Amino acid sequence: MTCVVAIDGPAGSGKSTVAAALAAELGVPHVDTGAYYRAATLAVLRHGAEPHDAAACARVVAACDIRRQGTRTLLNGVDVEAEIRGADVTRAVSAVSRHPEVRAHLVALQRRQLGEVGAVVEGRDAGTVVASDAPLKVWLTATARERAVRRAAQLGELDPEDVERHASDIARRDAADALQMVPAADAVEIDTTGRTITAVVADLLARARAVVGCEERR
Ligand code: C5P
Repeated sequence: MTCVVAIDGPAGSGKSTVAAALAAELGVPHVDTGAYYRAATLAVLRHGAEPHDAAACARVVAACDIRRQGTRTLLNGVDVEAEIRGADVTRAVSAVSRHPEVRAHLVALQRRQLGEVGAVVEGRDAGTVVASDAPLKVWLTATARERAVRRAAQLGELDPEDVERHASDIARRDAADALQMVPAADAVEIDTTGRTITAVVADLLARARAVVGCEERR
């Protein structure tokens, strides 16, 4: 039995940080599904394709090689980890990720990254699509304000106007991603507002250890 944990939630809910730490504790790969959508978006932008054009996006995505290597993301063999986190990709990613053909292609790649020992899969549809049979599914939330402050802190941009900018970016992405953002019916909802990453990881680790496949190996 493999150890698969699916973690979903909105932008800034802390899921990437929590998923990476939990994966390290469990000794399984961290599958960051958002990185695939970001790399696909970078490819679309580089080709000068229109992010809202489903057929054009599907063509670009089918023709490129997207893979994750540890904590890095490779597009056609080149490390694009820094670039996919930038503002241009963040602005366009919701439009690109809405196309069913793009999603089908990327979900197949993400499933390939699920290791034989299992994985912590994280994104918007980890519990409903990518790893829908995961024995532990988590929906992470936090208030919109806290999510904006976290995002600003991550980038070292803590002036009030920066926090406001992140708040409106997060609100825009919440709305644009609404279709993909449906918690699995059997997901445990965890509100991380006011909690440290360490506390949330400890909570999830205890829940993971209690499910089949993720028990501590002696
Ligand atoms: O998680 P992250 O913020 O890096 O995700 C970037 C974007 O990728 C999201 O705003 C969403 O549009 C898309 N995404 C998705 N499905 C996923 C993960 C991310 O549509 N499973």
